[in-house]
Amino acid sequence: MTFKDLGIVEPILKALTAEGYTHPTPIQEQSIPILLRKKDLLGCAQTGTGKTAAFAIPILQQLFLDKQERKGPQRIKSLVVTPTRELAIQIGESFSAYGRFTGIKNTVIFGGVKQGSQTKALRNGVDILVATPGRLLDLMNQGFISLRDIEYAVLDEADQMLDMGFIHDVKKIIAKLPPQRQSLFFSATMPPAILELSRKLLGDFEKVSV
Ligand code: AMP
Repeated sequence: MTFKDLGIVEPILKALTAEGYTHPTPIQEQSIPILLRKKDLLGCAQTGTGKTAAFAIPILQQLFLDKQERKGPQRIKSLVVTPTRELAIQIGESFSAYGRFTGIKNTVIFGGVKQGSQTKALRNGVDILVATPGRLLDLMNQGFISLRDIEYAVLDEADQMLDMGFIHDVKKIIAKLPPQRQSLFFSATMPPAILELSRKLLGDFEKVSV
């Protein structure tokens, strides 16, 4: 199985080759077809399995194909919420690497730093926003971010989110997402509180476990 067999478009294939990715990992092989069919996904996977590319590649592909059809003002179309600054930066770098030939733009926001450069990047327009929960809510409350146009929402490392006490913030964020969206939920473990949270985010979903 290759990325081409999975139906990945040329500009992304080119970037994956440049990254040295020859074959999809098991989570990618299982998740990409589900996501390209626009189904919601519950992914039981740890860091190191290639899960970032498993969601980043199909999101980039759908945004790339959509963009060719409809031109218009640039609004945030995809949101990825992740617990830590380090993860947020890594995910942003992955979108930049896999999306380098697509023209799809991302930015990363997280707490603990001044917000000026983050709000400036948002004003310049992005397709994909990668965020930690606290800073996201803060900038939403200040009116810098609207989730109104989100089509693809990802909750990454949900169990870590719970451990870090972000559960209420995450529920508030989910409540602001438009009902018409594709949702992806990733967690290494699935205790009851996490399954309950996944039911708040996901509609009719398929499950992938690696
Ligand atoms: P992640 O689980 O998303 O943190 O990814 C773990 C590591 O695997 C990262 O360093 C990725 O660059 C790398 N990786 C992801 N997908 C592939 C692939 N298909 N082939 C080779 N390396 C990959």
